[in-house]
Amino acid sequence: MKVSLILACAGKGERVGLGKNKLLVPHGGVTCLEKTLEAFINSNLVDEFIITSSPTDLEEIKTLVSDKATVIVGGATRTQSVKNALDKVSGDIVLIHDGARPFVTTRIINDCIESAREFGSGITAFPSRDTILSAENGVIKSYLGKSGLYSVQTPQAFKTELIKKAYQLAGEKIFNDDGEVYKEFIGETRVVLGDAKNVKITFPEDMALLEEEKHRFGTGFDCHKLVEERKLILGGVEIPHDKGLLGHSDADVLTHAIMDAILSSLALRDIGYHFPDKDPQYKNADSIVLLHKVLDLVKEKGYKVTSVSATIMAEKPKLLPHIPNITENLAEHLSLPADKVGIGATTLEGLGFVGREEGICTHATATLIKI
Ligand code: MG
Repeated sequence: MKVSLILACAGKGERVGLGKNKLLVPHGGVTCLEKTLEAFINSNLVDEFIITSSPTDLEEIKTLVSDKATVIVGGATRTQSVKNALDKVSGDIVLIHDGARPFVTTRIINDCIESAREFGSGITAFPSRDTILSAENGVIKSYLGKSGLYSVQTPQAFKTELIKKAYQLAGEKIFNDDGEVYKEFIGETRVVLGDAKNVKITFPEDMALLEEEKHRFGTGFDCHKLVEERKLILGGVEIPHDKGLLGHSDADVLTHAIMDAILSSLALRDIGYHFPDKDPQYKNADSIVLLHKVLDLVKEKGYKVTSVSATIMAEKPKLLPHIPNITENLAEHLSLPADKVGIGATTLEGLGFVGREEGICTHATATLIKI
């Protein structure tokens, strides 16, 4: 079963007052259009991508995404644009989606496709949280309540042959959306539960939602056992001590917690996942080398680390004199100024296994920004 996507981007998108189509204004290096398209590509549920554009934006959109999608000129109205795009669709199921809804989830995409496959249609909608009323010239005409009322979202999915037939029958008539065309000419139309976050970027304040996505935050924790005849390495710096940390790698508990914080901020699992302790290539591995591999993953995702903060929990040795060295070394490897690397140390007042000098733990956090 082949699935196609029509991404409706043919509007002028000028209501946010940016002087150009809001879909084409970069935020943190990526446009709303690319972000929306990316959500469908990353779902791995769609085989064919078609984007409708106004004649004005055609070249710019082609430059952005022509390697991923077919870009065509839409029409004067959304109805006309979708009609034009449907002629290009070769999938059995077609999803129609607003280019200005970048927060669509894989769950919604999947549910729409399943609904269309089983029932012919799947219209994303979200139950109204507020009571809805209708008014004219500032005067309330009627209260519609909220029970059984939904806000309509996209994607809207259909069996391609049915929605094509509906649009043929629609002629030149203008409709609110594709579900309405389907309902009028085909019949029973199914609702798929949307998401409160699946908003359409419409007003200037909505643009801030895209900005928030720029910043990420993660936490990490690690603990290693203290034993004799091992080196004590913290943040890539060897600390003189009669014991060291036991582990498959160099057991650098500080660098490990920092790596986990960075990975966690981008939902990239943890170091055990990327560098398994059963893997002989990581035996006695220099954790700073692993840190650089983590930073490569961050770069691949289009982010960079902006700050790191960590607390080492150790009864002995006294770490205070070593903190400047550790900070400087980590800052260099993280490509950060030293004032963005906050390393602290504490004892646990003799309590627990740390207090008994049986191990050292570290908690770390990291902040990242989209580049
Ligand atoms: Mg570890």
